Amino acid sequence: MTLGNLRDLYQQTILEHYKKPKYKGKTNPVDRYQKGHNPSCGDTIELTLQLDESGDNITDAKFEGEGCAIAIASADLMAEAVKGKSVEEALEMVRRFQAMMKGEDEFPKEQRKLNVMQGVSQFPVRIKCANLTWHTLKAALESQASVESNGFISNEKEDG
Ligand code: ZN
Repeated sequence: MTLGNLRDLYQQTILEHYKKPKYKGKTNPVDRYQKGHNPSCGDTIELTLQLDESGDNITDAKFEGEGCAIAIASADLMAEAVKGKSVEEALEMVRRFQAMMKGEDEFPKEQRKLNVMQGVSQFPVRIKCANLTWHTLKAALESQASVESNGFISNEKEDG
């Protein structure tokens, strides 16, 4: 497969997740809620998580929102990837994704689907779109809020 074909494949995967997201909606119940906004593009993500009784594991993840193909595809891929993972593992994935956007890391074989977003790192204006959902996930896991009252976070001041 040539590099050009590989890039087409990545774009196709991103478009598929954008057009037919599998994880759109709200978890039931909502154990964590966080809204995230990326002002530089206008992307908005409302992320909901369902945790197990211990609160240490993510049993379900869903999102609602409006945004560009990169932001929505990234949210769908993220929800799929963190479902069934521990909170600790999910936070490690946030770190890894953000490093990948700087071209410094990539996901191992079991999570290689997330590497389709790797190409975005070559487009600095799009990095915030891809990072938004991960940034929102981190805030959701750290805030411990399950209601809308915690307002929304913005990644405007984030450096990447
Ligand atoms: Zn965007």
